[in-house]
Amino acid sequence: MDLGLNGKVALVEAASKGLGKASALALAREGARVAICARTAADLEAAAEEIRHETNAEVLAVPADLASAEGIRNVVAATVECYGAVDVLVNNSGGPPPGKFADVTDEDWRQAFELLTLNFVRSVREVLPHMRRKRWGRIIGIQSSSVKQPVAQIDLSNGIRPGIAGLMKAIMPDLARDRITINLVLPGMFLTSRIHPDLAAGGAHIDKAVEEQLAPLAATIPMGRLGDPMELGHVVAFLASEQASYITGAVYQVDGGSIKSNI
Ligand code: NAD
Repeated sequence: MDLGLNGKVALVEAASKGLGKASALALAREGARVAICARTAADLEAAAEEIRHETNAEVLAVPADLASAEGIRNVVAATVECYGAVDVLVNNSGGPPPGKFADVTDEDWRQAFELLTLNFVRSVREVLPHMRRKRWGRIIGIQSSSVKQPVAQIDLSNGIRPGIAGLMKAIMPDLARDRITINLVLPGMFLTSRIHPDLAAGGAHIDKAVEEQLAPLAATIPMGRLGDPMELGHVVAFLASEQASYITGAVYQVDGGSIKSNI
């Protein structure tokens, strides 16, 4: 299936590693021109080079801190300056630190709000004028299964992410008038450095020792394994496609069957 992404401009946030990098790669494979950002320039450039090498796509790497308004403004401005548009936004960030309710301070809550909620608000706000101008756009937010069901040990995620789903739904009708769709994907457990430090390179090939350490986690998932980041990247690319033109205001779990609720 041709996803209609050839030549489209996709900005993928927090994409030096993990799910962001996989999403950028999936979009680049479909012919999109890609801008990626993360804080550490060297990691980011290495990811950009990997994506260029594999796909021959144009990849712009813009170092930016997604917990700051200035960082987000800069990365959107750099993307527009380079490519003249932002057609697709993949909103993403590093995850909040683990911690149970009793261990989390007010400052932890403030930082998580900045990294998750304000990152979503600011990123959407910055790209919207460019999408409205073209009367076309795709916004895909990478959130977490905590939108649907609390996750163990990360109460910052449990407290904050469901509100982002509520906000996404609330703003969706106004965006739809300009043919801009907005959806969320909810990862379950994926083979990234978020889950294990040795998985920074991403991909499904993990060494035996790491596999053994992750075996108890894998056993809790109906599919019997953690996800390959590309399994999420492909869903992101589809939601960015022409074919996904009638999907908006939706949340898609990509979780190997982990979420227990009916819907
Ligand atoms: P990862 O650690 O592999 O990658 C995170 C990326 O975010 C890296 O590129 C890092 O440089 C970047 N980043 C972190 N903080 C940043 C900041 N302040 N500014 C700019 N870039 C920043 O993580 P991942 O597994 O790819 O997770 C991505 C998102 O998905 C996170 O929000 C995470 O909580 C969520 N998530 C992941 C899983 C999973 O199993 N991997 C499950 C549920 C939710």
